[in-house]
Amino acid sequence: MRIHNFSAGPSTLPMEILEALQKDIVDYQGVGYSLIEASHRGKVFDGIYNETMDLLKEIMGIPAGYSPFFLGGGATLQFAMIPMNFQGNGTAYYAKTGTWSNKATDDAQKLGKVVVAFDGKDSNYSTLPDPHQLEIPQDASYFYYCSNETIGGIQWQEVPEVGNVPLIVDTSSDFLSRPIDVEKFSLIYGGVQKNLAPAGATLVIVKDEMLERCPDTLPAYLSYKTHAKAKGLYNTPPVFSIWAVNLMLKWIKKNGGLVGMQQRAEEKAALLYDLFDSSSFYRNPVDAKYRSRMNVVFRLPSEELEAKFVAEALNEGLSALKGHKSVGGCRASIYNALEKSSVETLVAFMREFERRNG
Ligand SMILES: *Cc1c(COP(=O)(O)O)cnc(C)c1O
Repeated sequence: MRIHNFSAGPSTLPMEILEALQKDIVDYQGVGYSLIEASHRGKVFDGIYNETMDLLKEIMGIPAGYSPFFLGGGATLQFAMIPMNFQGNGTAYYAKTGTWSNKATDDAQKLGKVVVAFDGKDSNYSTLPDPHQLEIPQDASYFYYCSNETIGGIQWQEVPEVGNVPLIVDTSSDFLSRPIDVEKFSLIYGGVQKNLAPAGATLVIVKDEMLERCPDTLPAYLSYKTHAKAKGLYNTPPVFSIWAVNLMLKWIKKNGGLVGMQQRAEEKAALLYDLFDSSSFYRNPVDAKYRSRMNVVFRLPSEELEAKFVAEALNEGLSALKGHKSVGGCRASIYNALEKSSVETLVAFMREFERRNG
């Protein structure tokens, strides 16, 4: 029996995609070899790759003037590549809203001048700045934020207003979970293992105008210009991960595109937040305006009860509900592929657990 998998990443995938991968893993659609044995310059992979890029452009509405490509190194490599390519002699502005944007800020500080435009530390990262009141100087190199903090369970519900300052977002844990206005951004990136596919690829979408800034002194792999020029095939791309992204994009399209994904996410999240709001047993520590639709964090009255909750849930086939070790508590990650019925099962268990322990 499949468990209900609330893992924060790598995350659950739709059963039909796992089965499609399984079916084709030995002999890809009758060609006599597996896609993971195929040359990334050959016809079979080429077909998958071009189709993936076309689907991505269609689903996200990526206009001309942007280059999408998949890189290795995880989302973490982007913490360094972004300042290496775009900070120049100017000042980059960062919003520190939790673990991931804090790590990105640390790397940028090693590489150039950084101003922290917002730091959520005093609120224990439970709130965000007003996206309309940021006041970023117009000569800033760029403004950087993380659209969804996976560990803290806090999510920007609007794109921050920064005038003409290039806007850069880490969208690893809410990638393709809602419509996005690509034209507002200079660079969008995310590791695919949270919402799209197995680990291995990081999707980067860069505005071509920005490529003029990439210093020629950078080693080839670290320059966005290299990857944009080679259309993402400068070196061997993470082929297995891209194959799975291809299947996931078709699944997203079939399930209503990004509007459909947003609807799914909101319905699932509401089940949990409604429970917290009607309970004095479960508590969500995040400012209600910024509650994440992807990673739902919650506390029980004591750490002992939290440990008991996680253990008993697992016995019921509800897996990976322990919060990240850095913050404690509990967390249910409810990415695109997680079915609403899994959240319903969780909520029923939570009500019953409260009855027994409340
Ligand atoms: C997981 C995560 C990362 C790091 O991703 P890796 O691929 O493990 O490097 C960065 N940002 C966010 C928001 C994440 O959720």
